[in-house]
Order: sequence, then structure tokens, then C-alpha cells
Amino acid sequence: MAKVIAEMLVESVTMELPDVKTIRFQWPEGYDPGEFKTGQFITVYWPHKQKYKRAYSLSSCSLDKGAYEVTIKRDGKMGTSVVDWLEVGDKMFVIPPVGKFLPVFDPPGKHLICVAGGSGVTPFRGFVREATAKNLNTKITVLYTVKTTRDIIFEKEFRELEAKNPNFNFHVTCTRLTPEDPWTGRRGRITPEWVKSYVETAANTVFYACGTNEMVNAIEHLVIHDLGLPKEQMKLEKWG
Ligand SMILES: Cc1cc2nc3c(=O)[nH]c(=O)nc-3n(C[C@H](O)[C@H](O)[C@H](O)COP(=O)(O)OP(=O)(O)OC[C@H]3O[C@@H](n4cnc5c(N)ncnc54)[C@H](O)[C@@H]3O)c2cc1C
Repeated sequence: MAKVIAEMLVESVTMELPDVKTIRFQWPEGYDPGEFKTGQFITVYWPHKQKYKRAYSLSSCSLDKGAYEVTIKRDGKMGTSVVDWLEVGDKMFVIPPVGKFLPVFDPPGKHLICVAGGSGVTPFRGFVREATAKNLNTKITVLYTVKTTRDIIFEKEFRELEAKNPNFNFHVTCTRLTPEDPWTGRRGRITPEWVKSYVETAANTVFYACGTNEMVNAIEHLVIHDLGLPKEQMKLEKWG
């Protein structure tokens, strides 16, 4: 079968948080995903609302065959309908993966600094899964901003990957914790100083930012103006 739009069965759903759900879309018999890459996004729509299509980054990686996984936050029409209503056995149409938000694994030995806000962390699970499975020497640092410790998506998996992969580090900053909260990690918004503190060799670093326009624009400004790096060393995914 050629690389085509396919109606896919929901093989499993996992509630990552009360308002965030991972959906595993099973590839139908004979489905050919063609060449797809970690970091790309699929576009999905309901059979009964075919004009309303929305993009979701793969939270799985290109080594995960047989299904696509996406992780969706309860937000807006599509996000709410999926998180509240989609269940195992349902079907949705899936437009195959596209996009250029790709991890630079070649040449080896790069340092990827991946800045994420909220659900913007989803493609980075794919990055780290692939790098860990392939035992790559690419260094990956995820800098993740959330409101509170209850909003950290994939915390358990990222901590497990951190234990397995000495080149991967996961750092969280919480913006809205009460002063009494026992969290001992960083608090406050992402600042240029915080991001810069993880840069070892600027020329060898590739910056990624995924999330709200405001956060992604701030990282763009940091890379171009504060660090004076060319835009080729930066990949941005703006979700609105
Ligand atoms: C490349 C790409 C990848 C993406 N990957 C992911 C992903 O992995 N996970 C994920 O969760 N999302 C992802 N998104 C976002 C996703 O495509 C949807 O936009 C999101 O799920 C919201 O659904 P919607 O567009 O139907 O919302 P809409 O109903 O169109 O609403 C859009 C926004 O407006 C707000 N809004 C709507 N009505 C009102 C109102 N009356 N007052 C105030 N605000 C309002 C909503 O809260 C929402 O934030 C991605 C987007 C892109 C472009």
C-alpha cells in the first residue's frame, strides 16, 4: 500500500495526567508508513467531522513500528473531544507524518538543547527514545517549564531514560507552585540565563523549542540575539 491517509484503530489510550492522553493508532494491514522521522507530526480527524483536522507531534519515534503515538492535552475543540471521548476501538483518519522538527543525530556528538512548555514536550520523548535505543553519543538536554509538579508529562519515562542514557538530562522548572510546596527543583519561568547555563560549546549546539508562540519566540530571540548564533542552529515548532 502506498503512503496514504488511512483510517486507524485506536489500539490503546493512556492517561498521562488527568487532562493529557496518549493515543496509540494501530497501522492497518498492509499500511506503508513510507519514510518517516522522529519529531514529525501526523494530522488526525474524526470520521464524522472530516473537515476539522488537527496536527499532533509523534510522541513515539521512528523505531516504533506498527503504530503511531501522539499525546494530547485537553484544550480547544479537538483536544477536548479526544481527551474526553476517544476510546480503544474507535477509529480516526490519520494523515502520514511530515515536518522538519527533526533531531540532528548526524553528524554524531551534537548537543541538542530542547526547550518545552506544557504539552510541547511530546516530540522530545521521541528524540530521547531514539537516541537511547540507538545508544547515540548525541547529548540531549530537555528544559521543561510547567505550572506545577502535577503538570509534568512523561516524568517517569524521562527519569528512566535519564538513568539508562548518560547523555540525556531532564530539567524541570515550575512557574506556579505555592511557597509551601516541597518541590526542591527550579522555580520560575525559563530565562535566557537558565538556558545559557547548559550551553557547553555554542557552535556544537542545536536549539529546539516547542510550545506556545510566546515561549518559542523567546528562545528564537535568545539564540539569534543573545548567543549570536545562525538560525540554522535552531528548530522551532509553534503550536499557537
Ligand atoms: C505541528 C503541531 C504539532 C502539535 N502537536 C500537539 C501535541 O503533540 N499535543 C497537543 O496537545 N497539541 C498539539 N498541537 C496543537 C493541536 O494541533 C490543537 O491545536 C490543540 O489540540 C487544540 O485543539 P483545536 O485546535 O481544535 O482548538 P480550538 O478549538 O481551535 O482552539 C484553539 C485555542 O483557542 C482556545 N480557545 C478556544 N475557544 C476559546 C474561547 N472562547 N476563549 C478563549 N480561548 C479559546 C483553546 O483553548 C485553544 O488553546 C500541535 C500543533 C501543531 C501545529
